[in-house]
Amino acid sequence: MAIREIREIGEPILAKKAKPVKEITPKITELIDDMLDTMYEAMGVGLAAPQVGVLKQVIVIDVGEGPIVLINPEIINEEGEQIGQEGCLSVPGKIGIVKRPNKVRVRAYDENWEIRELEGEGLLARAFCHETDHLKGEMFVDKTEDGVYNMNELESADLMDEIEEEE
Ligand code: ZN
Repeated sequence: MAIREIREIGEPILAKKAKPVKEITPKITELIDDMLDTMYEAMGVGLAAPQVGVLKQVIVIDVGEGPIVLINPEIINEEGEQIGQEGCLSVPGKIGIVKRPNKVRVRAYDENWEIRELEGEGLLARAFCHETDHLKGEMFVDKTEDGVYNMNELESADLMDEIEEEE
């Protein structure tokens, strides 16, 4: 178990497509353990392997309900819509308002190489979308409603009001 360095926006690996995992090897298990350590240490709710410099389709998420490991994840259903704040460990100190589906169903292998289907609502749905985007080389900063803010620049409530007024 070890903390890995989190790559920041601008590093080419964050714009690349991650490759599917073919089987669970000791190296993949170590990657998952390290990603969980790294996510918890950084106090994030999700982390994708490209963020620690590994172009593999591996994601870890914990929205406060325990760790979730998703390997080769595929979003198979989306429902509804939510507009809310989003940040990223690779874009420190910044937030943006991003529209996401409110309910997301994802199919993936877990750390024991068992196929699972999970449904997430609210923050978990947002995390599924945000982290699977990383595997496609996509970042939330390109999906915001009106750009990216410094975390302490504006009260989030003001931001939300602005967005609602525009609609
Ligand atoms: Zn991110």
